[in-house]
Amino acid sequence: MRNKIVAGNWKMNLDYQQGVSLFSEIVNMAKDEVMGHQQVVVCSPFIHLHSIAQLAKGASQVAVGAQNIYFEEAGAYTGEISAAQVKSTGAAYVILGHSERRAYFGEDDYVLGKKVDAALKHELIPIFCIGETREERESDRYFEVIGEQLKKGIFHLSNDSFQQVVLAYEPVWAIGTGLTASPEQAQEVHAFIRNAVAEQYTEDLAERTTILYGGSCNPKNAPDLFSQPDIDGGLIGGASLKSRDFIDIVKVFN
Ligand code: 13P
Repeated sequence: MRNKIVAGNWKMNLDYQQGVSLFSEIVNMAKDEVMGHQQVVVCSPFIHLHSIAQLAKGASQVAVGAQNIYFEEAGAYTGEISAAQVKSTGAAYVILGHSERRAYFGEDDYVLGKKVDAALKHELIPIFCIGETREERESDRYFEVIGEQLKKGIFHLSNDSFQQVVLAYEPVWAIGTGLTASPEQAQEVHAFIRNAVAEQYTEDLAERTTILYGGSCNPKNAPDLFSQPDIDGGLIGGASLKSRDFIDIVKVFN
């Protein structure tokens, strides 16, 4: 069966001490309470990565990821962080294409494609985010938008490379708004995404691709969302900042 993953995206929250302390709680709770084969991932700000990756060594269920990288290898790119640098902290994943990076930092499909390549070159697993805005949903253009994001940002990968990738459907209108997509709305898009992967690659690869849902996911709505046939876990923002809520979401797969 497909890998089930619950990933937290801390975004730009928590100072160094707060992050280490929250992560320690998550590791301890995961050791005691996570009974299934689900993978727990925490995507922290860069400042936490090395320390929390050390703490994660004691818990096989828990891995660490970044929220961004720059695509160049090294050099005069003041303020940027490369895939190799992130990898050297012990991180295993990186979120790419989050709608906040697309909207506030002008990351387009071309740049994202290069970031995906850089991540894979350095053996980081990209969690590649796609999703439509409220306006695009209301004008019934969401399949078109998501199809384009896949085509331009990630479908340039070879079959072998694509196997490494995790996808995340995050409708922009559901992020941080408390407005979750209904299980039916999310399932409809997840099935569309899986079908697009099957058309681009193979049925078999599509069946093995993990597709996460993100957008106001919480312990209450996670069970219904995660029981949909094409939803393989979640990418959790706000609720990942509370260890109890986050672990309760993880435990949906127990
Ligand atoms: P919220 O769970 O806070 O809506 O954020 C979702 C998200 O953007 C995760 O990447």
